Amino acid sequence: EGRKENENVVMLPFMGQGHLIPFLALAFQIQQTRGYTVTIVNTPLNIKKLRSSLPTNTTNTTTIRFIELPFCSADHGLPPDSENTDVLPYHLIIRLMEATLSLKPSFKRLISDITHQQHGYPPLCIIADMFFGWTIDIANEFGVFHAVFNTGSAYGMAIFNSLWLHLPHSKTNSDEFSLLDFPQVSRIHRSQLSNYLKIADGNDSWSIFLHRVLPQWLNSDGVLVNTVEDLDRTGLHYFRSKSGRPVWPIGPIVSSMTRARPSKEACLEWLDVHPPASVIYISFGSQNTVSASQIMELAMALEGSNKNFIWVVRPPLGFDVNSEFRAVEWLPEGFEDRLSKCKRGLLVRKWAPQLEILSHKSTGAFLSHCGWNSVLESLSHGVPIIAWPIAGEQFYNAKLLEEEMGVCVEVARGSGCEVRHVEIASVIDMVMDENGKGRDIRRKACEVKEMIKDAIRDDDEGYKGSSVKAMDEFFNAALSMRKTKEETK
Ligand code: UDP
Repeated sequence: EGRKENENVVMLPFMGQGHLIPFLALAFQIQQTRGYTVTIVNTPLNIKKLRSSLPTNTTNTTTIRFIELPFCSADHGLPPDSENTDVLPYHLIIRLMEATLSLKPSFKRLISDITHQQHGYPPLCIIADMFFGWTIDIANEFGVFHAVFNTGSAYGMAIFNSLWLHLPHSKTNSDEFSLLDFPQVSRIHRSQLSNYLKIADGNDSWSIFLHRVLPQWLNSDGVLVNTVEDLDRTGLHYFRSKSGRPVWPIGPIVSSMTRARPSKEACLEWLDVHPPASVIYISFGSQNTVSASQIMELAMALEGSNKNFIWVVRPPLGFDVNSEFRAVEWLPEGFEDRLSKCKRGLLVRKWAPQLEILSHKSTGAFLSHCGWNSVLESLSHGVPIIAWPIAGEQFYNAKLLEEEMGVCVEVARGSGCEVRHVEIASVIDMVMDENGKGRDIRRKACEVKEMIKDAIRDDDEGYKGSSVKAMDEFFNAALSMRKTKEETK
């Protein structure tokens, strides 16, 4: 027992909001439920960001340690601040990914230091992002239990893996094709391939990097997934059968820990004066945006649909991601003025208090890019989704939501497609409709909300939901490896 707080869990997330946020939430959960010391390791800028995202009054941050690994964007030919993927142009993300391989020696030194400080007693486990499979070598060297934490859906990441490991897709003749090693899913359409995947031939930088790192997770001691067993069985099956290792669905790991943002009060006050389930929340996440013409069509659709909405407006493609808000250039003429008069819509610049919005009773649907955190946050509150996936595995999350869960309608695909405002408006109307398909989707979303609640239930009568059990099993596996190592010393 006395050893508990000396028990170290070391975490290395990828440098993106969609990864950092669930890793931090997992760190809190481990620290609160197990009492272990959790060390989050990252590049200096991201550690600063993580620290500053914490509420100032958090007392229990004391046992979460943050450690910076030396990293300098310029050393890798990247522009300054590139560690911050929120401001990094999408085409440079692969360069950052490649540059992360240089963190290996300093990560090894860190594990060695922790072992020394603990009198030869290494960390209990290393939990690394799926893109950081190289940490497995270091874990093995020090005899540390290693797990990959997949912050995406099992289904989405399974298809992502399958597609990248079976290139090229440019030579596929038909528009739809089946996955050779994942026959459990229906056919994939070419429009569900990210731009990089469409042209990848095995010799481009994405292919080279992903072929190097993706197969590495097969050698990990197991995979933690931010998902729920009953909602994501097909994808979990893929990971289990591929690796033959334990796969623990421990989700949803959703953070409520982030610091209040300036837009918070304005959003909540605005929601308070609108009727229950009447507001559509629109956001494309922390990294993606759509084209200038798509933004125009979306604005016209929202205006035409007569529904209430909160829209997080990010600069359209082609504009600097950091550029100031320019309603005149991005939105239809007079759009903002008309909105402020009729109080039907609220525009949020860059960043919204998403979790608070989704948990508010006035929110009735979420038009989302289907980043997995957004999906989990929405479904945890029973909010159905209007999908507009843009990149990566978002296309497959939308597929999972629509085909397997029935909680979603897809409205558009990608940032290059032509989409008309009347079509967008008709999907919005359908989902918000009290009857017909809208009602079915809402009912399903409520069922899913209950399934999620059940998965994380851990009550006084000894009931443990599937995600709670999976977390127990993960730590039992780590502790039992530690015991075996000690006995054979
Ligand atoms: N987020 C937010 N406000 C915003 C945009 C995003 O709070 O305006 C949060 C959101 O709640 C989620 C994360 O950022 O936790 C985005 O993760 P996701 O996996 O949905 O998408 P990504 O940004 O990685 O594409």
